[in-house]
Amino acid sequence: MPDVPVGQAGFGCRAGNAPLKDRRFGPRGAREGHFGPPGAVSRATGRGQPPDMPHRAFIGVGSNLGDRRANVAEALARMAEIPETRVARTSSLYESEPHGVAKNLFVNMVVELETDLSAVDMLSRLADIEDQMGRKRAKPKAKPAPAAKGKAAKAPAKKDVSRLIDLDILFFNTEVVNTPKLRVPHPEIPRRRFVLMPLAEVAPQLVHPETGLTVSKMLATTEDRKRVVLMPPR
Ligand code: AMP
Repeated sequence: MPDVPVGQAGFGCRAGNAPLKDRRFGPRGAREGHFGPPGAVSRATGRGQPPDMPHRAFIGVGSNLGDRRANVAEALARMAEIPETRVARTSSLYESEPHGVAKNLFVNMVVELETDLSAVDMLSRLADIEDQMGRKRAKPKAKPAPAAKGKAAKAPAKKDVSRLIDLDILFFNTEVVNTPKLRVPHPEIPRRRFVLMPLAEVAPQLVHPETGLTVSKMLATTEDRKRVVLMPPR
């Protein structure tokens, strides 16, 4: 597995095993032009991307168990090995207070990928990485028994979101996907400072295809008050 450095906005590395077709985005400004307002989405192709361009995906990475930095670095190295995929940019690492009842602080980062895979195929590759790294998937819960007559139903227990590694597709071009297995853009983006801070580092002008808000604007207006701090490089 290649040794991929983390915390370096702007570094690039190619997937070793299956070269991405030799296509390049233009200069940075031109690349961001593909993330225009909602009307710019190509509904005909569903890709929001010219046909000869690779897809551009932003992946949220998080870990709050074990050696968190090492887990994030390993996930990045594994993403670099996804076929037809290239790591274009990475954010710095951030340490963040957990949402829910988890106790350990998370280490988070955002990775920008260029890929020829579809969003669904990318999701499946990311799930493979989570599984290979030993993440245990929650079993689907049995339906709670109905409350006894005259008694209030039990409030659902707060979710412990602790995990060795969590990989989420945040954005995939300007696609909007709403299926039971995949929702893109990830619906929690506007409520997660731990996503918005690293995302703002790599793509501040990225536009949410449903709300029309840039990442910078979402960060400035989010109601999430959980602490997120930039981690010093090691
Ligand atoms: P999580 O607890 O966040 O790891 O949730 C994993 C589940 O969320 C998987 O079963 C996915 O099918 C589903 N899911 C829906 N949308 C997304 C997305 N944008 N990125 C990652 N997982 C997603």
